[in-house]
Amino acid sequence: MITSDIQLAADKLSRGGLVAFPTETVYGLGADALDEDAVRRVFALKGRPANNPLIVHVSSIEMAKSLVCNWSKTASLIASRFWPGPLTMVLPKSDRVPGVVTGGGDTVAIRMPDHEIARSLIESFGGPLVGPSANRSGTISPTTAEHVEASLGPDTLVLDAGPCQRGIESTVIRITEAGAEILRPGVTGTNEIEEIISIVQSDHEPPANAPLPSPGMLTKHYAPSSETRLVDDLGEIPGEAVVVCISEPPAGSRAIRMPSDASGYAARLYAALREADAFAPEIILIERPAGKGPIWDAVRDRLRRASAQN
Ligand code: AMP
Ligand code: MG
Repeated sequence: MITSDIQLAADKLSRGGLVAFPTETVYGLGADALDEDAVRRVFALKGRPANNPLIVHVSSIEMAKSLVCNWSKTASLIASRFWPGPLTMVLPKSDRVPGVVTGGGDTVAIRMPDHEIARSLIESFGGPLVGPSANRSGTISPTTAEHVEASLGPDTLVLDAGPCQRGIESTVIRITEAGAEILRPGVTGTNEIEEIISIVQSDHEPPANAPLPSPGMLTKHYAPSSETRLVDDLGEIPGEAVVVCISEPPAGSRAIRMPSDASGYAARLYAALREADAFAPEIILIERPAGKGPIWDAVRDRLRRASAQN
């Protein structure tokens, strides 16, 4: 069911229910982050592996502090610079946060979304909400209420605020004493983060742009159901293909034209992948964008995962 009623949604959350809500990145599947049973229902509805931890969404710094055992000076600086916004911090968790939220680990991922309705929902509910993307695990993330309904079915309550402005998921960083490790690239660029804290290579994970599996970040993700491939030139397009491209598509091909600016491309990306998939083509060919900068890097990360082989 699709609604615009925040109070109705908050009441459902208070009863341990699930509510999909808009953020500036993608629609999230919300549940009381401190209610183990509610969080388990999120994993079940998404079909998400239990070892892939969830991001907890807050509406105030106080709420963030209540989830960690040590709110460091660095955390404070990062929060004041980037929140509300598409930047998630991984910090040592307090005992209040159930292990089911963190995949059994001792750190918790937290962010404050830059979306009035998301923050109003958290305020009305009165506590932190988990908010993984509101779709079945591994599939294309939802950037409209209709996408959520198509993925999770009509029984899920969705707060509708139209299309998401940013369109791809938050940048995830782990704060350690040595600096920040980039766990997932997003629209917040490392150049901006480096103004506050040095970026260090993770001990546990390959570089964020490496096409390798890493804990909690499955290689094949954000994927259409049709076979999907990244290509460098649109020279030979088989007739059964759908092309997703910035440049002029070959005459006669079925094509979805993308914006040439990074923000526009990111905001449009998931809807375009859904439209391409809806043709049920033999193959989706995506022209690899060549642009430079953090948003293009994040776009290429998603395209790599969308086109990864099983
Ligand atoms: P999603 O819910 O799809 O936006 O994914 C959340 C991302 O944050 C995944 O890549 C998780 O692996 C990552 N994440 C969440 N919590 C943690 C954590 N405690 N440590 C490391 N990564 C995390
Ligand atoms: Mg997701």
